[in-house]
Amino acid sequence: MSAFPRSLLEFQRQFSDEAACAAYLARQRWPEGFVCPVCGGKRGWALETKAWTTECADCGCQTSVTAGTVMHRSKLPLTVWFWAAYLMATHSNGISATQIRSQLGLGSYKTAWLLCAKLRSAMVNPERTPLSGLVEMDETTIPFRTHEDPPASGQGRSHQGKMLVAGAVEIMDGGPGRIRLRVIPDFSGETLKGVVKETVASGATLKTDGWAGYSASDDVAHDPHVIGPMAAHIVLPWVHRVFSNLKTWALGVYHGLRRKHLQSYLDEFVFRFNRRRTRHAAFRSLLGIVTTKGPITYDMLIAPETKG
Ligand SMILES: [Zn+2]
Repeated sequence: MSAFPRSLLEFQRQFSDEAACAAYLARQRWPEGFVCPVCGGKRGWALETKAWTTECADCGCQTSVTAGTVMHRSKLPLTVWFWAAYLMATHSNGISATQIRSQLGLGSYKTAWLLCAKLRSAMVNPERTPLSGLVEMDETTIPFRTHEDPPASGQGRSHQGKMLVAGAVEIMDGGPGRIRLRVIPDFSGETLKGVVKETVASGATLKTDGWAGYSASDDVAHDPHVIGPMAAHIVLPWVHRVFSNLKTWALGVYHGLRRKHLQSYLDEFVFRFNRRRTRHAAFRSLLGIVTTKGPITYDMLIAPETKG
């Protein structure tokens, strides 16, 4: 595996053209050499007539280096994908579609938005393990923008509402390790139990503000601290700091988040937070998920994650 770039100049040298990007993707997908996705054959040759496509010597089917990945059927050059992945993964605060559009000279906002949304969909590692050890957990509300786009009528006042978010922070050596954030429909015991099950390993110890909703979780030791709301930031300092950073980030980079896509933005925040000490490796990990995760369509991206 080639080293990941540690600076813009290194990045530019390493991924200077389409061929360099395609070669990198091929190595990621087929570290032991080409394997035909149809018949499993290991022999094939590069087609001269189709870019970055290998024809299987056994069954004759043709496989593009991006086929079946998040980049499937994309008309954008690979260099644009690589630049966008690099900027999104390594910027300490992330980068909006508007900034990506102007930095990479893309034709339309929609193109930039789709590119960012597809990369964001690759920010959850399918193989990640649940949080373990001591885990702080709490819930918060964050405001959202209800209007998808400025209304054509010119009456541009956005109404704001609140979205509910559950957060968990793994405590390691007295500080934060990995985090998880999840959009939730309510603060009920049923919902919170589901979040615990999804994010916390059995055998972990959960530290909460004593809200009864957490008491029903199986397999997880519970260390409730019954406190008034004013003191929650003292008992649960890290999860509160994460919530506070999340809200600042949402306003700073995105001018507020939209309800429809909230979970994907939470995933982006978590991806960046969990790789805050290894930003340059984050680029490789993002491209790694891009190449192993299946295709994402526009319809999949615009499908609302939560109603309303
Ligand atoms: Zn084949």
